[in-house]
Amino acid sequence: MHELSIAYNLVEIVEEAARAAGAIRVTRVRLRLGDLAGVVEDALRFSFPVAAQGTPAEGAELAIEHVPVRVFCRQCNAERMLKPPFVYRCPECGASHLQLLQGRELQVESIEIEENHNETAYP
Ligand SMILES: [Zn+2]
Repeated sequence: MHELSIAYNLVEIVEEAARAAGAIRVTRVRLRLGDLAGVVEDALRFSFPVAAQGTPAEGAELAIEHVPVRVFCRQCNAERMLKPPFVYRCPECGASHLQLLQGRELQVESIEIEENHNETAYP
């Protein structure tokens, strides 16, 4: 499963950040997930605890923040939001020459660790 390998990568990133912060355990992982990242959220939520087993991230809550899809339309010379099902066209003028500004994110924004409940930004 695609999401399982993503989950293993996430856990690796989290473990590294936890080690750098001197944390023994991670209680919460905040993740930014773009709507065009190609990740099925439910599958990722299912995979994360599996990948986290035996690591400091075991039992951590996975908090997912959705990143909407923003594009720049050269024809309108303006930023536009794309809505599902994300047809790659400007919602105003229909142009397909769009520059993707955000929406493909898959990044750990921060982790919370057990010791002092401080959030440690990553990186
Ligand atoms: Zn446009």
